[in-house]
Amino acid sequence: MHIVVLLKAVPVVGTERLDPSAYVQRAQLEANGNDEYVLEKALKLTEANGGEVSLLSMGPPAALDALRKALAMGATRAYHVTDDAIAGSCIRATVAILAAALRKLEFDLLFVGADTSDGLGGVVAPALAARLGLPYLSYASEIEPLDGGVRVRRLSAAGYDVLEAPTPALVMGTQVLGEPRYPSLRGIMQARSKEVVTWSLADLGIEPPSVGESGATTRLTGSKAPPARSGAQVVRASPEESVTAVIDFLAARRLI
Ligand SMILES: Cc1cc2nc3c(=O)[nH]c(=O)nc-3n(C[C@H](O)[C@H](O)[C@H](O)COP(=O)(O)OP(=O)(O)OC[C@H]3O[C@@H](n4cnc5c(N)ncnc54)[C@H](O)[C@@H]3O)c2cc1C
Repeated sequence: MHIVVLLKAVPVVGTERLDPSAYVQRAQLEANGNDEYVLEKALKLTEANGGEVSLLSMGPPAALDALRKALAMGATRAYHVTDDAIAGSCIRATVAILAAALRKLEFDLLFVGADTSDGLGGVVAPALAARLGLPYLSYASEIEPLDGGVRVRRLSAAGYDVLEAPTPALVMGTQVLGEPRYPSLRGIMQARSKEVVTWSLADLGIEPPSVGESGATTRLTGSKAPPARSGAQVVRASPEESVTAVIDFLAARRLI
């Protein structure tokens, strides 16, 4: 069984530079949290059933750190799509690039996170399924490989639905799949020699003007930090006095 996990490197919270032109220069990147959950499930499935887990990421050179960490968790190899001409790519272009990369790979299952902590688009998974003509199983809380197929529990308002599809299929996973593991020291050492394949747009047969800023359907025209908050009351007192102060504060505003 070959599972490809899509992993986006996102800015470590607090290190973002609020400069729209600096997207590709953000120094500190880490794996998107939701992607680590689907990676964990992919690792468990291949540990139990045999197979390999490949990572695929589109992002700047610094995304390699996130890929190395995911390799240290246990993934077999990584594919990294990086090219200066990708800078400024919108979701449409991202999906086109990821789809071109996926067409070069043979896989049984494609695992994708629900959304990312920076872009928050939540659309890459269904858009990729549509573009690649793959069955799309969303909001998975459990994933079970079948002979020539996959069964997924999809979270629903009432509990969960059980879906089945033939493979290859795209599964969009949730955090219910299980806590991601920490890389072991052995895993970190092994990750250094694992294969990382780097692809440019030319390797994927994509013409630069169709992606990046020139092909973007949306543009980031500004980024602003939220206004600083003021008026906070800090209570420095004994636990009993603090509780009384908080209750009085809430009661005065009719919040309790
Ligand atoms: C103005 C602007 C400029 C940008 N410039 C760049 C740039 O220069 N270089 C660049 O690499 N990106 C750039 N991006 C980000 C890129 O467009 C996003 O990766 C893409 O739009 C996905 O959007 P999202 O994060 O909302 O995805 P969502 O739909 O929220 O993501 C869902 C899931 O899809 C997968 N996924 C999403 N994006 C990727 C990815 N890149 N690689 C692997 N898996 C992924 C993950 O599993 C993720 O959990 C830019 C975005 C904007 C808005």
